[in-house]
Amino acid sequence: MRKNKLRIFTGLLIFGLATILYSKKLSCSKVKGIEYKLDNVLKSENVVPVAVIGSGPAGLTAGIYATRLGFKTLIFEGSTPGGQLTGTTDVENWPGNRKITGPQLMQNMREHVSDLNVSFLQDSIAKVNLDVWPFELWTHDNKKYNALSVIIATGSKPKTLQIPGEQEYWGKGVTTCAVCDAPFYKGKDVVVVGGGDSAIEKAMQLAPHAKLVTMLVRKDSFRASQAMQDRLKQINNIKVLYNQEVKNIYGDKEHVNEIELFDNKTKQLSKMRIDGFFLSIGHDPNTDLFKGKIDLDELGYVELEGRSQKTSVPGVFSAGDVDDHVYMQAVSSAGEGSKAAIDASNFLQSIGFTADVAKTVEPKLFNIDLTKYLEVDEISTLEELDKVSNSELPVILDFWAEYCPTCIQMLPTFKAVAAKFEGKMKFVKVNVDEAEDIVKKLYVLKVPSFIVIKQGKILSRYHDVMDKAQMTEFVERFI
Ligand code: NDP
Repeated sequence: MRKNKLRIFTGLLIFGLATILYSKKLSCSKVKGIEYKLDNVLKSENVVPVAVIGSGPAGLTAGIYATRLGFKTLIFEGSTPGGQLTGTTDVENWPGNRKITGPQLMQNMREHVSDLNVSFLQDSIAKVNLDVWPFELWTHDNKKYNALSVIIATGSKPKTLQIPGEQEYWGKGVTTCAVCDAPFYKGKDVVVVGGGDSAIEKAMQLAPHAKLVTMLVRKDSFRASQAMQDRLKQINNIKVLYNQEVKNIYGDKEHVNEIELFDNKTKQLSKMRIDGFFLSIGHDPNTDLFKGKIDLDELGYVELEGRSQKTSVPGVFSAGDVDDHVYMQAVSSAGEGSKAAIDASNFLQSIGFTADVAKTVEPKLFNIDLTKYLEVDEISTLEELDKVSNSELPVILDFWAEYCPTCIQMLPTFKAVAAKFEGKMKFVKVNVDEAEDIVKKLYVLKVPSFIVIKQGKILSRYHDVMDKAQMTEFVERFI
């Protein structure tokens, strides 16, 4: 009986597609050497009509639009689910919300998208092949997906100075996330490098905690908006030094304690004692994956065709900071997300994959294994720590805090990796605000931090954000 039903369904499917192929010339078109042949789709597995890479405002808005236009959409969340807005505090320029925090805004968007039945994968894409159609996408654990259209919404990453000491002290006093680490700098002296809106925002996040925040601006003026500069003037413990370039970062191996500055006006070198170093010097686009595969401009941003979100490969679109280094606003990224989804829908229809066809074939083609999660225990006392750290299995402790957006973003990753290594390693959360004794005993100075312990012995520490692939690799070393 089931076999018969399957035969009838497959027959109808082939008939449906054959009719479409016959009636639509474009259903088997060749553009720039790529054959967009709809019957190839039938031979593929893990077929995604709209694959969105990235889950910031651009990616999530693309998800809303693509789904509402009638196409099954899969969002690869990447290493920073929610994108950079999750690392900010107040957002006051999102229409309809006079004031909302960045993490709250992204959570609202995520819920909106989930309610529409968009699928999410807690994974990053490691490799793409845009020379064949369906396009091929591989995650870090080598799982392959076939995408009929792709929306690149990978955003950008914070720039670094590339000076001595920066990498050595990364996570040991050198960081980019003020909202995560500010509480660790109570009564301390910190610097913020940069003169844009983000730098001012970071200085303002640090000011309630630190004794003194010194902003180091390389020119003799800020790039930031006048509104942000005006706010800065109202805060007493923020000082601004202009014409300052950082040349070296020093420390005592455990933590940063000094920097060398060059005054580009007086040409003098000087040293400054510091407890924390916060970088905020702009961003680079996350386009490494696409080098040589789509056209990028000289700064590495995706090049678009006219006023559309089309890239140089038909069927591949882009939205948000990955193609925009002029406006770089959450709202403009979201706008691009909507345009990219409309462009993707037009493309799918042009090759014969209409919303009606999608409805018929998607149940068979879209057979994706979505991410599995395992609930993990939380500990807060030294007795509980003793118990888990002396167990047979190695244990990984995830130190997080409610005020740390990257920590919140990483909890699903932690639970996803926990599901992968169930029975081989124990995964435990520690909320630093509720586990003072553990934090002191294990000398935790930053969130997120990860500590691996086996039979009472600390095997490793890691003090930064990890995506699922990096965490998988990290964990594999201890089992
Ligand atoms: P920006 O590109 O606006 O600013 C980067 C800053 O870093 C500039 O002052 C730049 O100096 C400085 N800089 C760059 N390279 C170096 C270096 N090697 N050494 C020292 N300083 C350096 O980036 P932001 O991240 O601040 O902002 C990005 C976008 O996000 C902007 O459009 C901004 O308006 C927006 N934004 C808005 C906010 C708000 O409205 N509340 C909050 C945060 C961001 P120079 O000027 O000399 O080039």
